[in-house]
Amino acid sequence: MDAASGVTRDRHYGKTDWNGKEFTLIDTGGYVIGGDDTFEAVIDQQVEVAIDEADAILFIVDVEVGVSVMDQEVARLLHRSDKPVLLVINKVDNALRVPDTVEFFALGIEKTFHVSAINGSGTGELLDTIINVLPKTKKPESLDLPRFAVVGRPNAGKSSFINALLGKERNIVTDQAGTTRDSINTIYNQYGFEFVLVDTAGIRKKSKVKENIEFYSVIRALRSIEHSDVCLVLFDATRSFDSQVKNIFWLAARNHKGIVILVNKWDLVEKDNQATKLFTEAIQDEIAPFVDVPIVFISSLTKQRVFKAIETVVDVYMKRSKRIPTRELNDFMLPIIQKTPPPAIKGKYVKIKYCLQLHSDHPQFAFFCNLPQYVKEPYKRFLENKIRENYDFTGATIDIFIRKK
Ligand code: GDP
Repeated sequence: MDAASGVTRDRHYGKTDWNGKEFTLIDTGGYVIGGDDTFEAVIDQQVEVAIDEADAILFIVDVEVGVSVMDQEVARLLHRSDKPVLLVINKVDNALRVPDTVEFFALGIEKTFHVSAINGSGTGELLDTIINVLPKTKKPESLDLPRFAVVGRPNAGKSSFINALLGKERNIVTDQAGTTRDSINTIYNQYGFEFVLVDTAGIRKKSKVKENIEFYSVIRALRSIEHSDVCLVLFDATRSFDSQVKNIFWLAARNHKGIVILVNKWDLVEKDNQATKLFTEAIQDEIAPFVDVPIVFISSLTKQRVFKAIETVVDVYMKRSKRIPTRELNDFMLPIIQKTPPPAIKGKYVKIKYCLQLHSDHPQFAFFCNLPQYVKEPYKRFLENKIRENYDFTGATIDIFIRKK
């Protein structure tokens, strides 16, 4: 199934939302690839991964094919789990195909949906059900402490960075069993900073098969991102800021997290006076248009700028949670809007009357006007940039909403 308004679409996972509730769709089939394994072993792994890691499982079958041996095997495995399972019968493109769906009752799955991935029919009802069966988001423990996640590719130096930071035993105040069954969160307290390092290492567990490793590392990054306020996107200076790092960056951004980029292993780079500038430009090319993100050059080995990195992360955390009083915001924005209003479209003039910052945990601004549908992306970006220029939200994503008044 395609993520309806999926923004971080890539082959195997996508973040999406329905009626304001966000969730991540993962294609386990995209991860568990056969290799030399038997067909049954492959199915077992897919289902095992889904049962272990998902909050709800969509079991997709094909009405053209009918009930296959594979479907029976999947159903048998799913019956053992207590996760909600939705049976999605695909390719029900028209009413003529409905009678053919009856045979799927034999799989013994109560919640059944007829959909057509081609014409989209049935997907609304399915999405309604998905958001109803998903667990309500729990308030994490130690809610008032900032939550930071270190994310990046394997071998970028995440563990080394955390070790460099934690160093001596005494800095670790508590190890607490965390918000998900697997995560271990470390409360860090030093130099006047107190925060939680989100770590979902527990997920790594058994993973019998090596094909699953990439899957688990992606899930791990996703989880850590979701449970954090600010993500430290750490990458290896001796490698390029490649598509995997970019994916992680955009996952963090699309989850509305604060972001700091850490260029690690800086000790290995031959430096001249252009090095940081060239690195910065190369990274900004990859993350445009969201370039207002701090970049810190560090070495986890020599501990160079490791504390500077944390200072920067704390700074982003503060900026991300600050609020601009409505009066002040209007006094600043309205003259700018008056001077450069949204371009008229088909003779219609948009009049923005006022704006305010919403009460959310990350910066969101609403602008109220007569014709919201005529305000396009470029103008929203213009508004965002003006806010950034004046208020310094560096490292934080900003959402701009245009609403009818
Ligand atoms: P992780 O998989 O992201 O947790 O990466 P690790 O922390 O295990 O580091 C992978 C390898 O990179 C190890 O051999 C580390 O010693 C090495 N490494 C990590 N950080 C640095 C650094 O800043 N400089 C150098 N030279 N090596 C590093």
